[in-house]
Amino acid sequence: MRWSLRVIRLAGIDVYVHATFPLLLLWAGVTNYQDRRWWLDSVFAMGFVLVLFGIIVLHELGHALAARRYGIPTRDITLLPIGGVARLERIPDIPRQELVIALAGPSVNVAMAILFFLLAGGTRILGRDLDFNLFAGGLFTNLMLVNLALTVFNLVPAFPMDGGRVLRAILATRLSYLRATEIATRVGQVFALLFVALGFRYNPMLIVIAVFIWIGAVRERAMVRFTHPI
Ligand SMILES: [Zn+2]
Repeated sequence: MRWSLRVIRLAGIDVYVHATFPLLLLWAGVTNYQDRRWWLDSVFAMGFVLVLFGIIVLHELGHALAARRYGIPTRDITLLPIGGVARLERIPDIPRQELVIALAGPSVNVAMAILFFLLAGGTRILGRDLDFNLFAGGLFTNLMLVNLALTVFNLVPAFPMDGGRVLRAILATRLSYLRATEIATRVGQVFALLFVALGFRYNPMLIVIAVFIWIGAVRERAMVRFTHPI
């Protein structure tokens, strides 16, 4: 991807961060400073963003390694301020393969959520108020909540997000690949519109994600119309 800097190579796959990523770090630092005007809050918030992006790299690596099992190489993994992208050499049109690859990412988050749940003291935290609070909450509890949130968010059936790929794969077991893609695209577009509405209300980042979903869905549908005309 253009405007990206290579930071590490994992399992033979180059990991890049996009040039806009430092802006997110800066934003995290500044907004968290304003509250208590304490520089350590900034450092802590920026550190948490870095850890968060480490988690996203592992999620993308989950997709990449699952794809590798089916002989599909991954060109690279890029971190954008809105999340990660693993660029697979191709998207398999065998539903079972797409299903496994799509679920591999969120599975990593489920595994990490369980790990952090145990590290946070396991069952002791059950029944307590589990509001996410970067400064008051325990680190492991926060990391568990982040992984749960990433699992749920990625499984929203907003094609071409992971949940949307799961939907397409399931539909493609009964319908033609093209028909399955068309339905998944429509559902993805409905979610994109919903994200725009929620973005105005809660977090503008959702609007950016909605644009990516919409463009991604339309682009992939166009490709499938070309490769699988019936
Ligand atoms: Zn994913």
